[in-house]
Amino acid sequence: MSNDLVGRLFFIRTFGCQMNENDSEKIAGVLAAEGARPAGRAEDADILIINSCAVRAKSEEKMYSYLGRLAQMKARRPLLIGVAGCIAQIEGDRILSRRLGVDFVIGPDEYLKLPEILARTDAGPVVAAEQVAAWQEAPPRLLARQSPISAFVTIMEGCDNFCSYCIVPMARGREKFRPLESIRAEVEDLARRGYREIQFLGQNVNSYRDPDGRADFARLLAEMERIPGPEWIRFLTSHPRSFGPSIIEAMAASPRICRQLHLPIQSGSSSVLARMNRGYSRADYLGLVARLRERLPGLCLSTDIIVGFPGETEEEFLETLAILEEIRFTSIFSFRYSPRPGTAAARGPDDVPLEVKRRRLIEVQTLQKRLQTEFHRSLIGRTLKVLALGPGKKDATAFSGRTEGGQVVNFRAEGDVTGRFLDLEIIGAGPYSLRGAPASLPS
Ligand code: SAH
Ligand code: SF4
Repeated sequence: MSNDLVGRLFFIRTFGCQMNENDSEKIAGVLAAEGARPAGRAEDADILIINSCAVRAKSEEKMYSYLGRLAQMKARRPLLIGVAGCIAQIEGDRILSRRLGVDFVIGPDEYLKLPEILARTDAGPVVAAEQVAAWQEAPPRLLARQSPISAFVTIMEGCDNFCSYCIVPMARGREKFRPLESIRAEVEDLARRGYREIQFLGQNVNSYRDPDGRADFARLLAEMERIPGPEWIRFLTSHPRSFGPSIIEAMAASPRICRQLHLPIQSGSSSVLARMNRGYSRADYLGLVARLRERLPGLCLSTDIIVGFPGETEEEFLETLAILEEIRFTSIFSFRYSPRPGTAAARGPDDVPLEVKRRRLIEVQTLQKRLQTEFHRSLIGRTLKVLALGPGKKDATAFSGRTEGGQVVNFRAEGDVTGRFLDLEIIGAGPYSLRGAPASLPS
C-alpha cells in the first residue's frame, strides 16, 4: 500500500453498460485496497473518475459536458480528474488536448495499475491506454461491489464480431476469455457471502471458451449449476448468431437459470441486418425465438434496436415495427444510429435525415410502450416470485425488486426484506414497472 491514497476520497461517475458498472466496482476496489474511501457525492471527492462510454455519439457528448462542469469545480479547489473506459481507450491523449483539466486517461486494461498512474500525475497528466491480448486476472475480492444481493461476474472481454456500426471491438479489443476455474472460484466466494443472484457479463457471452480447456458457454452454465447458493443465474449479452442448441439445453436443464434473455436484434429487416454484418436474417432470428420459446416456456426476451442505419428505407423500418409486434419483447433499448470512428459504416454516408431518425425512434418507443403495458396488465392478479433488491432512498417501506423475467416490481413492506425472495401478487401495472403486494410470508 502506498501512503498517498490513504484517506483520500474518490467518486466514480459511470456511463454506459453493465460491463462499465462492473469495471467501476473494480476501480473502486483497487482504490479502496490502497486506503482511499468512496465519497458520497462528487462535490466531496479529491479524485473524480469518469468511466466513459463510446458506443454512441450521444454518450460521448454527455461525458464532455460533464467534464466541462468538473473543470469549473476544479477551478475552485484541488481535484484530480480521470477519464476511464471506452472513450479513454479510443481517444487517449486527444482528451488532454481539449484542456478540460483532465489529469489522467486510463483504458480498461490498465485499471489494476491505477495507484501507480495516480502517483505519476504529480509530474503532469498521464495517459495509460495499452491493450492486452489475454485475460488479466485480478486479485480475488478486489471488487467493491455495489449490491450485497446481486453480483456481476465478467466472464469475457472484447468482441470479434465487427458489426459495421460498432466501436466496441476497437474500444475493448478482441475476445478474451476468463478461465473457468477463476469464474468458479468467484461464484463460490459469492455463494459463501450469501449472494442470491449472479449475472454473467460479456459483449457476447455465448462465444465463451475456457482458455485453459475445452469448456464452452453451455458447459460453464452446467458447472455453475453444481455450486449451491445463488438461486438465480442470468447472463448478458447473447448474440443471436452464436446461440446454439447446447446453450438452450443447458438453460432448460437448470431451473436456476432465469427464463430471461437479452438478445439484441438491431433491425427487423434482413437487408439492413446484412449491411450491419450481424450474421443472421429476420427468419433466422424468428426461428431462434421459436426454438427458445418451445424449450423455455415463459421466457422473457428483451432487445436492442437501432433506427436510421445508413440506407434504411421506410419499408425496411416498417419491418422493425412489425417484428416488435410479432415477438413482443418485454423491454427494449432503442437508439438512433450515429457514426462511430473506425467502424465500417462510418466510412459511408450517414444518409437518413435526423428528423426521420427522430420520428422512427418515437414510433418504435410508442409501439413498445403499448406492448409493454399490455404485457404488464396481463400479469395483474398473478403471484410472482420477486427478489427484493432494497428500499427506496426516501421511504424505508417502499421497496423495489425484480422478477425472474426482469420486470421491476415496487411494493411496500414493514421491516427490511432486502435480499429475500417474496411471493407478490401483482396489483398494478404501468409501462415500465409493476406494483405488488405480499401474497404470503417471506421465504
Ligand atoms: N454486445 C452487445 C451490445 C453492444 S453496444 C451486442 O452485441 O448487442 C449496445 C447497443 O448499442 C447495441 O446493441 C446497439 O443497439 C447500440 N449501438 C451500438 N453502436 C451504435 C451506433 N453506432 N449507433 C447507435 N446505436 C449503437
Ligand atoms: Fe458491437 Fe456487434 Fe460486438 Fe455487440 S456483437 S459488441 S454490437 S460488434
